[in-house]
Amino acid sequence: MRWQNKRESDNIEDRQNKSSGMRGGVPIKGKTGFILLIIVLVSGYYGVDLTGLLDRSAMNEQPQKTAPIESDAQQQAIKFTSVILASTEDYWSQEFQKLGKKYVQPKLVLYTGSTRTGCGIGQSVMGPFYCSADQTVYLDLSFYQDLKQKMGGGGDFAQGYVIAHEIGHHVQNLLGTFSYFDRLKQGQPQKIVNQLSVKLELQADCYAGLWGNAMDRENILDVGDLESALNTAEAIGDDRLQKQGQGYVMPDSFTHGTSAQRYQWFMQGFDNGNLSKCDTFSR
Ligand SMILES: [Zn+2]
Repeated sequence: MRWQNKRESDNIEDRQNKSSGMRGGVPIKGKTGFILLIIVLVSGYYGVDLTGLLDRSAMNEQPQKTAPIESDAQQQAIKFTSVILASTEDYWSQEFQKLGKKYVQPKLVLYTGSTRTGCGIGQSVMGPFYCSADQTVYLDLSFYQDLKQKMGGGGDFAQGYVIAHEIGHHVQNLLGTFSYFDRLKQGQPQKIVNQLSVKLELQADCYAGLWGNAMDRENILDVGDLESALNTAEAIGDDRLQKQGQGYVMPDSFTHGTSAQRYQWFMQGFDNGNLSKCDTFSR
């Protein structure tokens, strides 16, 4: 993916090498004097992660200590993340304009280990996640390495897919899909709630595919990019992760969709480039 020299976002806050984000962080760019207010909401918030590992205590995975990234590589990773975030801002601003709505840009916080969020303490073992209470995506850059080494994914477009998926949750938040989801799941048994969660997650995959389509139209994708994103979509399917983590698969406990479904819905967005094709709830 040829992302170099593209616009960078003003909405990144770097809390790396800071303890638990207690005092907030310093934005890399943007307004000076920014004070992070930590507002803990007791209800009505979502913390939506990429893989559902958060709730999968059966995997019993402890946070991995990763070696500090070389500062050059780290700078590159920050820059890359910033460019990808900017590309989602550009894409979704246009789409919202078509809908006659205004796109409110989310924040993206980079952190190491753990950090405070509007949805409680975020930990890197959860993988990247979106918190609707503070409209922020939380990302530990070591996830890029995990993606490559543990999940057989990797490559810049695959990393972009992961960010675009989280931004997809922000879009769902703005479009009222979270509230809709909340109403649908009211009083339902866990099995049904899980099925609804799968629909929510697959829609975020489809939205990531829409972003991918926009990147493709900009002509910045390289040979093999699409394949790497699809490999990643498959690598983080519930069935694959459960098999790896606990040795067996329990479809009723799926919250994110199978590898095949995640592949299919990313492609659905990528092929069509049309928001209306991402209605996972009525299908
Ligand atoms: Zn998700």
